[in-house]
Amino acid sequence: MHEPLTRLKLAVGEVVDLQRAAALLEWDEQVYMPPGGAPAHGEMVATIRKTAHEKLTSDDVGRLIDELEPALPSLDPDSDEHRIISVTARDYHKAACVPSAFVAELAQTVSTAQHAWIAARAQSDYSKFSPHLARLIELKQRYIAFFPPREHPYDTLLDEFEPGITTADVKALFAIIRPRQVELIRSIADRPQVDDSFLRVPYAENDLWKFGEEVITTLGFDWTRGRQDRSVHPFATGIGPDDVRITTRIVPNEPFSLFFGTAHETGHALYEQGIAGDYRRSLLGDGASLGIHESQSRLWENLVARSWPFWQHFFPKLQQRFPTQLGTVSAERFYRGINKVQRSLIRVESDEATYNLHIMLRVEMEIAMLAGDVSVNDLPALWNSRMQEYLGLTPDNDARGILQDIHWSIGAIGYFATYTLGNVISAQLWNAFGRANPDRDADIARGEFAPLLTWLRSNVHRFGRKYKPQELVERVTSSRIDPEPYLQYLESKYRRIYEIT
Ligand code: ZN
Repeated sequence: MHEPLTRLKLAVGEVVDLQRAAALLEWDEQVYMPPGGAPAHGEMVATIRKTAHEKLTSDDVGRLIDELEPALPSLDPDSDEHRIISVTARDYHKAACVPSAFVAELAQTVSTAQHAWIAARAQSDYSKFSPHLARLIELKQRYIAFFPPREHPYDTLLDEFEPGITTADVKALFAIIRPRQVELIRSIADRPQVDDSFLRVPYAENDLWKFGEEVITTLGFDWTRGRQDRSVHPFATGIGPDDVRITTRIVPNEPFSLFFGTAHETGHALYEQGIAGDYRRSLLGDGASLGIHESQSRLWENLVARSWPFWQHFFPKLQQRFPTQLGTVSAERFYRGINKVQRSLIRVESDEATYNLHIMLRVEMEIAMLAGDVSVNDLPALWNSRMQEYLGLTPDNDARGILQDIHWSIGAIGYFATYTLGNVISAQLWNAFGRANPDRDADIARGEFAPLLTWLRSNVHRFGRKYKPQELVERVTSSRIDPEPYLQYLESKYRRIYEIT
C-alpha cells in the first residue's frame, strides 16, 4: 500500500510542478511580458500543459491508481491517504476520457475564438463572433459525449468547476434567489438614491495603492509568501501556497475599484496561503472549487470590506490619507456611497444587490445553448429580453450586451454559476463564524481580523481540495448549500442603507 502511494505522490508531484510553472508563465503574460513575447509564451505554456496532461494520464499513473483504488473501502474516508487517492483517481479518469487530439482541437478553436471575440466586441458586431461560438458549443457537446450520460448534459460542464453540483441544484438555487433579488432592487429603486459624489473627485493612485496594502496587511496577507502587481484584469494565482500573487487595476472615475479589487483578490490569496503545507505537491493543494474560492474572495470583499464595522475602523485612516476628498464626509455617508445600488448593463460593474441576476441570465442561456433549445443567432435577442425582465434595462449594443464577457470565447462554459455559489456560500460561512465567535462585528470594528482568518484557516483553507464543495459546506455550517442566509444578509443590509420599511 505505502510503496505504490509514495510512487503515485512522486509522479503527481511532477504534474503539479508543471501546472505551477504554467501558472507562473501565465501570470508573467498579464503582468510583465512585452507584447512581442506572446507567441513564445503561447508555445511554452502549451508544451507545459501538454506534458502535464501526458504525465497525469501516463500508463504508470494508471497502473498505480488501479493498484490503489481497490484499497479505498478499507481506508478511513476522512484520511488524507484516502482523499489523495480518490481525488487523483478522479482527475486521472477525467483526463483519460478526453483524447489528446480533442484537447488540441479545443485549444486551437479557443485561440481563434478569443481573437474573434476581441474584434467582435471592439466593433460591437456579434456576427463576427457567432460562428466561433457555434463551433465552441459543438465542441462542448462532443466533450460531454466522452463522459457517461448525466441527468442533464450541462452537469458534465458544471462538474469541471464545481464537483458534485448539478444543473438541478443550480436551477433550484436560482428559483429561490431570482424573485427575492428582483423584488429587492425594485424597492431600492423606489427610494432616494444615496450620495456618492465624494467618489467623483480625483484620488492619487499611489495613495489608494498604499491604503490597499496597509489594509490587506492588517487582514493577514503574508507578504513573504505573496505579492501584488498591476494588470488589465485583476486576478489571483497560486504558484503553490508559498507564492501567491494578486493583481489589481486602476479604473478611471471609479477610485475605489482598485481597493475593492485588492480586497477581493486578497480573499482568494488568503485561501491559497492557508492550504496545508502537506498538500503542496499533491492534487489536493488547490481550492475545493471555483465556488468555494469565490466564497472566500466575496467574504473578504463584501461581508468584511463593504461592512459598517470595517469602515468604523478604517474610515478615520482613509480620511487621514485623503483629507481633501473625504475631510467633510462622515463614515456613515461613505459606507452608504460605496454600497450604492445601481442597475447596470455590465456584470463586472454591478453591485451586490444586482450581481446574481447577471449570473442567472448567463447560466440560463448556457443551459439552453447546450441543450440545443436556442440557436446561436437568437442568443442576442434572448439576452436582451432577459436583461429587460431581470434588471429593467436593454443594452444599446452587443458590446455592452452579449459580447461583454470573455468566458465563452475561452471555452469556459459552465463557469458562471460559481459566482452565485460563491455569494451564497460566503454568507453561510459568515453566519457559521458568527455563531462560533459572537464578538465578530466588535472585533472587526476594532481592526481585529485574526479570529476570522484563524477560523477560516482551520475550517476551510487548510483542506484544499480534500472535500467537495457540498461536503465542505455541510462540515462547516451543518447545512447544505442554502441561499437563505445570503438573501437575508442582502435584504437587511440594503433595507438599512436605503431606509426601506
Ligand atoms: Zn474572484
